Amino acid sequence: MQIIDGKKISAEIKLEIAEEVKQILTKSGKRPHLTAILIGNDGASETYVAHKVKACEQVGFESTLIRYDYTISEEDLLDKIRQINKDDNIDGLIVQLPVPEHISEQKIIETIAPEKDVDGFHPVNVGRMTIGLPAYVSATPNGILELFKRYKIDTEGKHCVVVGRSNIVGKPMSILMSQKDYPGNATVTVCHSRTKNIGEICKQADILIVALGKPGFIKADMVKEGAVVIDVGTSRIKSDKTKSGWKLKGDVDFEQVAPKCSYITPVPGGVGPMTIVSLLKNTLKSAKKEI
Ligand code: NAP
Repeated sequence: MQIIDGKKISAEIKLEIAEEVKQILTKSGKRPHLTAILIGNDGASETYVAHKVKACEQVGFESTLIRYDYTISEEDLLDKIRQINKDDNIDGLIVQLPVPEHISEQKIIETIAPEKDVDGFHPVNVGRMTIGLPAYVSATPNGILELFKRYKIDTEGKHCVVVGRSNIVGKPMSILMSQKDYPGNATVTVCHSRTKNIGEICKQADILIVALGKPGFIKADMVKEGAVVIDVGTSRIKSDKTKSGWKLKGDVDFEQVAPKCSYITPVPGGVGPMTIVSLLKNTLKSAKKEI
């Protein structure tokens, strides 16, 4: 059993990106620039955005954090997005989700210009990814593909079971794993809350990718001996062992499941750090006008 070290791989990729930033800076005098919009002060969103801003600093990107009170109107927010779309100095724009209920998430996603949509949520990017054209691919699935590549995990002809069908993880992940390329060429099954016999289906997986947000949901009897298990889940649970009073827990019962796996990602330190470097990579692509 090998633990997939997302923290180590992400640190390596950050060094690679920092090297490219130096070259871009010498050539053009401009650093890649990511702008993040944060609305309100939800604890988890604050943490995610802080990590993204810190990662930008680490690789030499310029970053701008725009904060709004949760009372901001939808129209004011959309106006700001349209303004950033036209700003040649900004390469990538993300709006930290979730947004307050009076704002339509879908309108925000569709207002961000596809060429600055480094989260890869715009229908144009999702569509292009689906038919195999160059696109900004959603950060978490892209980070998982990168882990497969770096650990040289074989995916061809494997049965890949994806648990969860969200637009940001499960759905794009299932499409990418079925693409005619490496890492892909897998036979994919998607499970969700209406799936019957989910344990039996998971047990058939050579590669099991879990993104449902139910801590410890995947137990040892749902996993085949020798499977590759990728745990996307990050739920905050109470803990009296940490200063903050909470800790992150994955969707997989790691203690029980790990001994059965050929590879497994831990939580934290598996998929999470890869998500952030995927965002950096997309911003770099935008700065280089690669897509
Ligand atoms: P989401 O939008 O919360 O959707 C959850 C999915 O799981 C849905 O498709 C749902 O089915 C399915 N589901 C829920 N309960 C289920 C059950 N009992 N059996 C089978 N399927 C069930 O998902 P998400 O945004 O992808 O997030 C999933 C988890 O990943 C969360 O813990 C989130 O925090 C984490 N996450 C981590 C990262 C990272 O960087 N590490 C990035 C993104 C998300 P229905 O469609 O039928 O409702």
